[in-house]
Amino acid sequence: MAQTVYLNGKFLPITEAMVPVLDRGFIFGDGVYEVIPVYSRHPFRLQEHLRRLRNSLDGIRLDNPYADSEWMRLILELVALGDSQDQSVYLHITRGVAPRDHAFPKDTPPTVFMMSNPLVVASQALVESGVAAVSAVDNRWDRCDIKAIALLPNVLLRQIAVDHGAVETVLFRDGILTEGAASNIFAVEKGVLLAPPKDNHLLPGITYDLVLELAAAHDIPVEIGKIEQARIYAANELWLTSSTKEVLAITTLDGRAISNGQPGPLFRAMYGWYQDYKNTVMRVAA
Ligand code: PMP
Repeated sequence: MAQTVYLNGKFLPITEAMVPVLDRGFIFGDGVYEVIPVYSRHPFRLQEHLRRLRNSLDGIRLDNPYADSEWMRLILELVALGDSQDQSVYLHITRGVAPRDHAFPKDTPPTVFMMSNPLVVASQALVESGVAAVSAVDNRWDRCDIKAIALLPNVLLRQIAVDHGAVETVLFRDGILTEGAASNIFAVEKGVLLAPPKDNHLLPGITYDLVLELAAAHDIPVEIGKIEQARIYAANELWLTSSTKEVLAITTLDGRAISNGQPGPLFRAMYGWYQDYKNTVMRVAA
């Protein structure tokens, strides 16, 4: 049976979910999206995801089509229709269908699309081995805090990693760490967890916040600030985080080993705290 998705007020088979070619998402990439992990059918930090969605919509000057209570109802309905206990809900809003013109169309309803897929987290082998990453100049716009569907720069940047047999591309703007092509990046230096500040150069990750909360709960010193590229190569540990990848150690960058090329002790601790948190908090109704 075809997967059921949500489009503009209806739940329907994905094979019947169609968007006109003049949708501004198709024509201009004029829209925003969210990805919400779901554990044991409980959406994780739904309110925070809906707040980030609101910020993204405000950033592109598009009215939120639904109140949070309505989003919650629709998301839970979609999750209930899925086969898996753990899912990844994708929601996507564009500025609707209108004759091709850069100017915002008047009185045009947005297009609202949602689907949920089984949540596939990193394999235990990748957790144990860590992953390879490459670096690149962050050539994206300066509103990377908006979760825009126009992901061409991220796609091109991520492909650099793929071309090198690596998992992620770590981005530097003017020699300063921003984030990964689809993740946030942390470093560890002499037992201190380093992270770039949440500003307009990176997406404020929900996992980023959780990692900082777990660090605070376990008395790990944290330093939020600008991190130069040379410091990243010399770091004791390097991690990437995202809702679907959770926390992974980056063990080589541009073919150079980070420390001894193995996931470090703080990574192992954080991974354990994250899994504990998932099993004791995320899987339990909020
Ligand atoms: N930065 C970018 C560019 C992303 O696409 C993502 C999500 N894949 C993240 C950071 C991490 O955000 P979250 O922890 O909310 O998944």
